[in-house]
This record gives sequence, C-alpha cells and structure tokens, in this order.
Amino acid sequence: MPELPEVETARRTLEQLVVDKTIEDITVHWPKIIKFDEGVDSFIERLKGQTFRSIGRKGKFLMFYLDGDVLVSHLRMEGKFSVKSETEPDDKHTHVIFHLTNGEQLRYNDVRKFGTMHLFKEGQEYGVPPLTLVGPEPFDESFTLDYFKAKVQRSSRMIKNILLDQSVVAGLGNIYVDETLFKAGVHPERRGSSIEDIELVRIQQAAAETLLDAVEKGGSTIRSYVNSQGKIGTFQKQLLVYSQQGTPCPNCGREIIKIKVGGRGTHLCTACQQ
Ligand SMILES: [Zn+2]
Repeated sequence: MPELPEVETARRTLEQLVVDKTIEDITVHWPKIIKFDEGVDSFIERLKGQTFRSIGRKGKFLMFYLDGDVLVSHLRMEGKFSVKSETEPDDKHTHVIFHLTNGEQLRYNDVRKFGTMHLFKEGQEYGVPPLTLVGPEPFDESFTLDYFKAKVQRSSRMIKNILLDQSVVAGLGNIYVDETLFKAGVHPERRGSSIEDIELVRIQQAAAETLLDAVEKGGSTIRSYVNSQGKIGTFQKQLLVYSQQGTPCPNCGREIIKIKVGGRGTHLCTACQQ
C-alpha cells in the first residue's frame, strides 16, 4: 500500500507531468471509483475543459486543483496514476482515463479497484469527508504533545492500531509504524493508556524523522508500488525492522521477529521495544 512518502513522491512527479494540461474528455470504466453525488456523467461534464493548476496532498490523499474544482483521490491499496501518450495501449486495470488536449492521457490504474475520486468546488474540500477525517501529519504544527497525549493516553487500543488510525495522525501505514515504534523503543502491543509522555515524544520525533527521510528517498518500493514515472524509491534499503524478520536487530543483534497486531504483520525487536 502506498504510504505518505510514496503519495508525496507521486504528487511531485504528477505535478511535473500534468500541470498546465487541459482535460478534453474522461473515460470511466469502473464507475464505483467516482464518488460524486450527481453521478459519473456530471463528473465528466464538469471537468471537461478544466486545466490542472497544481497538486496538493493531505495525508494519503492527492488533491488535483483545476479551474475552480478540486479532485480528491485516494489510492488505497494498489492505485497508481500515470501519464501516457494516447497511442500507448492501456491494460485491463486502467479504470479512469483523463484525455488531455495535448494527446496525452492521465490514467488511473488499480488492480484492487479500492481507490476513490471525490470532486468538490475548491474551498469546500476541507469542510467535508473524506478530508475532515484526516488528522495532522507528524510534522504539522498542530501535532502537539497535548493533542497526541489526549488521543493516545485515553485509549485502551494498542499503540500500533492508534498510529495506523489516519484520524489520529495522517500518513503512517504499516511500514512506517513498525519503523517508528522500533526507533522509539515502544512495543507495538502496548495499550495507549500505558504510554508515558517521554515515549510519546520519542514516537512523535521518530514518526516525523522516518517519514521525512522516506520522502527524500522517494519512498519504499515494496511489492507492486512504483511511483508515477515508474521510478523506484530507495527507502526500503534502509528499513530497520519492516520485512527484516530473521535478521539481527541493528541495535542489539537479537533476531527481529514478525507477529500479528490487529491482523497486520508487525516487525519488532522484543529486547529493544519494551
Ligand atoms: Zn534490538
């Protein structure tokens, strides 16, 4: 699943590829991806003739700003945008095609078909779901210790599950939560109510550091995720615990193990993470 660094990499790449290009028409092969009350035909009519002005991101949502409207898209498990010439054949997983006036196409591919596209008038996007359900990112000013304490210490959920909850903190998925908790020295199964202030500070720092570092490296290319230009991120080369089960812990040399937490594969060192 693409996480924040992969989505940020996609945002930067797509911005170079689509800004100042104009939508001539749209083909929708899988209407369920389009989350627009007025229907798919109105979605298409409304976007025809609009030009991409910029691309933003909140958490794992991409926001395509056009002439007065904003298209908010979540890639979910396997979604990918790419820009191709109209002469290049598409495949059976291409579900939405934005035909551009210059003969290129912005294509949305999604093997699992779980991705979404919402359309709003610019300015309304932050006042309604899905973006109202997205919490601050680890490096936002609003991600204060008081805020984090209130969300974690009043919860009986396991810390890993709290960190995966995008309404608490946006942008951490399975990979970066495992990395963050390892760096912070906190066991993923600890209950929120048992986490001390000093540990919360370490988690905040580790989360911000891990995500920023991964953004710089272009994200991690794990399984099917490749960014929009087909480039491969390199952060997976420096993963400390994620997918490292059976190898020695970089801190203490004991074996990294893999367990299940809330149904998710979880990697940790039981000596370093109490
Ligand atoms: Zn260790």
